[in-house]
Amino acid sequence: MIITMNAPDIYRPGIDDVIRVFYPGCIIQTGNPDTGANIKLHITVDVKQPCMQVQAQLKSAAGDSGHIEQSRLEPGANERNEARRLARLAVYRLLEQFTCGRPSPWGIMTGIRPTKVVHRLLEQGFNASEVKAKLADEFAVTPDKADLVISIALFQRHYLADGLGHSHRTGVYIGIPFCPSRCLYCSFPAYPRDKHRQWLAPFVSALLREIEAVGRALRDSPLSVSCVYIGGGTPTCLEPAQLNAVLESVNTHLRTTTTTEFTVEGGRPETLTAEITGICRAAGVDRLSINPQTMQDRTLRAIGRHHTVAEVILALERARATGFASVNMDVIAGLPGETVIDMRDTMDQIMELRPENLSLHTLAVKKASQLRWEVSKQPMPTAKETAAMMQEARHRAQMLGMLPYYMYRQKNTLGHQENIGYTLPGHECLYNIMIMEEKHTVIGVGAGAGSKFLRPDGVFVNQHNPKEPWLYIERLDKVIKKKETELAEAINKF
Ligand code: SF4
Repeated sequence: MIITMNAPDIYRPGIDDVIRVFYPGCIIQTGNPDTGANIKLHITVDVKQPCMQVQAQLKSAAGDSGHIEQSRLEPGANERNEARRLARLAVYRLLEQFTCGRPSPWGIMTGIRPTKVVHRLLEQGFNASEVKAKLADEFAVTPDKADLVISIALFQRHYLADGLGHSHRTGVYIGIPFCPSRCLYCSFPAYPRDKHRQWLAPFVSALLREIEAVGRALRDSPLSVSCVYIGGGTPTCLEPAQLNAVLESVNTHLRTTTTTEFTVEGGRPETLTAEITGICRAAGVDRLSINPQTMQDRTLRAIGRHHTVAEVILALERARATGFASVNMDVIAGLPGETVIDMRDTMDQIMELRPENLSLHTLAVKKASQLRWEVSKQPMPTAKETAAMMQEARHRAQMLGMLPYYMYRQKNTLGHQENIGYTLPGHECLYNIMIMEEKHTVIGVGAGAGSKFLRPDGVFVNQHNPKEPWLYIERLDKVIKKKETELAEAINKF
């Protein structure tokens, strides 16, 4: 499928994503090339105040059609952003008419965080039912997804408004880019540990230097660390002495009296030996993630995870025996070869294990994953089946007494679904709220870690550490210098 899209440059961002909701994998040409396009889209934007209008027109062999969207600019609204939203909505509505279908329950909410839109509307004074109406009219979101995202935003208000939303609070993420093996769907920095074993020790040495440098810079700054999250990769695949050194360094250089949360992503259950679990607990880690993704052994084998369901259960027993009272488990809907029956069985087994947190992901076929090249060979669930699996999992999470408390959407998810974090009340992970809602500085340390520095004027400055361990080691001095400079800015400006 080739689609030609003609729209003014400044209003074009995001329209491609909307077109691909209807035509995944299509080729989109911009401008007016005289080639054999199957569909030609022409978008005109008129921003005469106080009303703006976007007209989307479509030409194809099946006929021509058009759609007009109009909006009054609210006081204080950003004209360009509003025109872009209107352009995306006009294209969405036009393609909805043309294809006689609504392919995504999230409408034009692609490439934006749904909760951020809801927080903005709540801050503008709209109540929950007015927000729901706006999500339907202005973003083409279905009522059940609107209810979901509004309930999550309302849950988060407590954290974002009661002083934890204060800009001096900060989170620290530590990235350890090694895993026992690489999962078929993985797009994270995750280097198979045994193949890259020579990099483990130099990487840990470099990481310890960066943690110490960030701790020193933070001591002089007005920022204080509320939460530390060690992820990756699989941090627990380090040698016990290496992991212990990282945890001790966090305790020495980053944790203060304001630090209320310390999480380690166990990820792979087979790495959670009694020794590793004990090291984490002794160092004051209070939250552990044990991620089965599925409780079906045949799927675990098919997706390249070298562990069994029995090892998941054993890891959870060890975590409980060591004293962990907050355990998260990740599950993915849409794994190759799975059906709603598999999801039901997976969730039944998880309900027996009773984790305090559950992260429900929808499979996303990412460019950096091996799955992207194998997707045509794998028996992938359909969009409808994946949506039913998510529905099944959500229902089971609610039966456990859990509430949804953070969410995000990714491109290329099966069935245009979402990723949702559920929690038993009182066990929510502050780091997950902070990283999703972008109201605080979050400092990323280690390979592949991203930092978001919130400046006093409300602007975020992003920095990214190299994801390859060898480049991270090589560029460590520069990586540290950039962070020190940004944190020094914070001292001068707050
Ligand atoms: S465990 Fe996670 S980070 Fe490691 S390879 Fe699998 S998906 Fe990637």
